Amino acid sequence: MARLNENYLKLKAGYLFPEIGRRVTAFSEANPDAAGQIIKCGIGDVTEPIPEAARSAIKDAVDELGDRATFRGYGPEQGYPFLREAITEHMFHSRGMDITPDEIFVSDGSKCDTGNILDIFGSGNTIAITDPVYPVYVDTNVMAGNTGEADKSGAYGGLVYLPCTTENSFVPEIPSTEVDLIYLCYPNNPTGAVATRDQLAAWVEFARAHNAIILYDAAYEAFIQDPEIPHSIFEIPGARECAIEFRSFSKNGGFTGVRCAFTVVPRELEAVTADGSAHALHPLWARRQSTKFNGVSYPVQRGAEALFSQAGRAQVGTLIAHYMGNAALLRQVCADTGLQVYGGENAPYVWVRCPDGVGSWEVFDRMLAEANVVVTPGAGFGAAGEGFFRISAFNSRENVEEVCRRLQALNWQAAQPA
Ligand SMILES: *Cc1c(COP(=O)(O)O)cnc(C)c1O
Repeated sequence: MARLNENYLKLKAGYLFPEIGRRVTAFSEANPDAAGQIIKCGIGDVTEPIPEAARSAIKDAVDELGDRATFRGYGPEQGYPFLREAITEHMFHSRGMDITPDEIFVSDGSKCDTGNILDIFGSGNTIAITDPVYPVYVDTNVMAGNTGEADKSGAYGGLVYLPCTTENSFVPEIPSTEVDLIYLCYPNNPTGAVATRDQLAAWVEFARAHNAIILYDAAYEAFIQDPEIPHSIFEIPGARECAIEFRSFSKNGGFTGVRCAFTVVPRELEAVTADGSAHALHPLWARRQSTKFNGVSYPVQRGAEALFSQAGRAQVGTLIAHYMGNAALLRQVCADTGLQVYGGENAPYVWVRCPDGVGSWEVFDRMLAEANVVVTPGAGFGAAGEGFFRISAFNSRENVEEVCRRLQALNWQAAQPA
């Protein structure tokens, strides 16, 4: 009989979003009148249409494919030079970073890249992840066999959890134990926190001193409003020797359904073999991608390129301003109703402390029942997420205004209805 990958059996069955879906469905079936009123501020998906510049570039590219003279088949696995050059110029050179186009690997998503990157790392690495965390980092390490079993709280043996709390402004302290791979995500999902230059510099210094590698997820960099906050780990001197960065067009360009992202692997970055000899990782990732991936579709890459045109940049700016306007309204209503609010200033997520004595799944259930609003319970992102809930700013303005009216009317002191 064929053997399966037993690591998959360690995965916790009740993954966050299916559980949310189950509770929303159960509530809707029990309360058919309320079902139509439900507003989802849960899953981190964008809601607004993709910019016109990207749409028309995609359409033109489709027409090129319809003509024998301009038809294209397989493209370069790493991405077309036009896109890699546009990325380098507009996202790195414009901010003074010396990233080159050959260090950019275009892909169909950061979710895949953050998981697939484990292919080029050996077994036996000690993995550090923040708590709370984007669940993909944890689950892909479980699948790869880098963890033990989960305990009752859902924490996996063998992982080093870095608590992100109000005390450290949701940027973890440097660990006192040795770690080999460190996942950092700023602006952060789920807390909406950002990391300062000094905080990132401390992590880069630690990584270099301990030969560790930082896996830096900057999917939300476009939402940064504060000019002092770095948009990339590569703004920190020395990061080229210790970091890989993941970027995506999902959140800035509304490409969650279109699919385009990229990973930056600097030429200098190295890891060691069992006998201690160091090798560059760039050729390994190039080999991994060219073997297991055949590139992003040509029209999609043209669409991503168009986000960097003058019109495209203006339209992305409008999208970001829309979501950040939502975040400001959501922050305000939470503060007005006496809740402690974090995030939402440089990220599209507002992270709210639960009212005293109310657990995060209880907040979820009450918000659903009393306001017909779906939020994400912090406990779903890790043990340190308990006591908080996440409200996503990805919504129409109309929905956000309605959510604000309903939250205004919620009375946390009132007993929960039977
Ligand atoms: C949305 C998101 C991404 C982007 O994922 P894609 O696969 O590119 O859509 C990456 N990281 C985090 C933390 C995210 O929330």
